[in-house]
Amino acid sequence: MQNGGWNLEHTYTELPEIFYRGQNPAIAPVPQMVIFNENLAEFLGLDSDRLKDRPDIFAGALLPHGAKPIAQAYAGYQFGHFTMLGDGRAVLLGEQITPVGNRFDIQLKGSGPTPFSRNGDGYAALLPMLREYIISEAMYHLGIPTTRSLAVALTGNNVYREKVLQGAVLTRVASSHIRVGTFNYASAFGSAEDIRALADYSIRRHFPWPINSKSKYVEFLREVAKLQASLIAKWQLVGFVHGVMNTDNMAISGETIDYGPCAFMDFYNPDTVFSSIDTAGRYSYKSQPKIGAWNLSRLAEALLSLLHIDENEAIDLANNEIKTYWECYDKNWLSGMRGKLGMENEEPEDITLISELLELMKKYELDYTNTFHKLSMPKELPDFSAWQTKWQARLSRQPISQQDAVDIMQKHNPATIPRNHRVEEALAAAEYGDYEAMHTLLAALSKPYIESEIYSQHPEPTACGYQTFCGT
Ligand code: AMP
Ligand code: MG
Repeated sequence: MQNGGWNLEHTYTELPEIFYRGQNPAIAPVPQMVIFNENLAEFLGLDSDRLKDRPDIFAGALLPHGAKPIAQAYAGYQFGHFTMLGDGRAVLLGEQITPVGNRFDIQLKGSGPTPFSRNGDGYAALLPMLREYIISEAMYHLGIPTTRSLAVALTGNNVYREKVLQGAVLTRVASSHIRVGTFNYASAFGSAEDIRALADYSIRRHFPWPINSKSKYVEFLREVAKLQASLIAKWQLVGFVHGVMNTDNMAISGETIDYGPCAFMDFYNPDTVFSSIDTAGRYSYKSQPKIGAWNLSRLAEALLSLLHIDENEAIDLANNEIKTYWECYDKNWLSGMRGKLGMENEEPEDITLISELLELMKKYELDYTNTFHKLSMPKELPDFSAWQTKWQARLSRQPISQQDAVDIMQKHNPATIPRNHRVEEALAAAEYGDYEAMHTLLAALSKPYIESEIYSQHPEPTACGYQTFCGT
């Protein structure tokens, strides 16, 4: 394999210049590899044997063959408020073309200041980058669309937060980094032609099948709505709380992006919020579907002039696609829940049965993952056994065997998720250069549907809930 297998293209820079700035990564004085994802490297067509020992490349000290680093411009509605953002601590090296011809962005995150850094230093600390690596890879193995992590490397720079931390770079792989916020940016600061160029580029890149050219922007909005509906339903079904669903953290590809204050629920509570700054619960577990619709409305606004020349008609068209989002969301969520309960056919009362289970889980603060995974195990709760009787009766009415129902459930109910206490334990050791717990955890997370006793245990309830922090 020549040049480590790099096969980088740069279609993003064919967009008007307002969408990016050329930017090299900062100097990384002592690059050191922390983790390298060999499977992902091979999937990308990279020479993992050669690259796994090249921390200089993954710390940003040496550009890989064919790289032309840029920082992307974008804005975003953060907690509802419009802000100019952009890659403040990341550079896109290029788009890797895989052996089968697919295109993936290769981005260094934590690689130093850019013209979009505002008050930030442009750097990232080791532990938040490892946290992103662990959770994004867990999401991938759970079958949830996500950006992925190719490597984390130490730079040898110090990063100054509340204390002095080790600087690190995460190599993020994404089917693109086009965000709803990129459209918010084009709409606020660009011309009508800039918005059109971005929409056309996004369509070419993500929806290359022939879409009816007359209504292609409406269809684009619909496709994004469908992808988001499917993604957010998947989050709900595994108990994932993204934590910072600003429009700049919503990728139009439908991949989960930006693992900042995210976490998985242990005990079921729809009001769950992990992020220390989300005091009003805007991005709580139960709010995620609604925020998905809110964010899509901001995308629709940015596209309005492309949807129809008559503004009222354009608004009607946009509202229709928000409706599509809700229809798809409800359908995806319900069919996912049926799968979790071993249901193969549909009965009108299913929704009541599901709601009753969730009510019980909330009332008794049951572990979300384990309750589904061990649904048929007896619980010492009278109303739970009454529910189980109803559920068993429901299953006996469908035309498949008990074993088939169990098989459906096993495919829909993971045993192993990145539980917060396990992630924290791995990170605590990693801070001192001991990566063994992280590797053991990653191995368990790569087979989420297989029981792994210690990783399935939920933590002891503590007086104060688990909190995640921004400022990563
Ligand atoms: P995030 O919370 O990671 O989605 O980041 C929100 C915005 O803040 C993005 O524009 C980031 O590039 C920027 N940002 C986050 N951390 C830093 C940092 N340390 N230096 C510069 N910009 C940052
Ligand atoms: Mg972000």
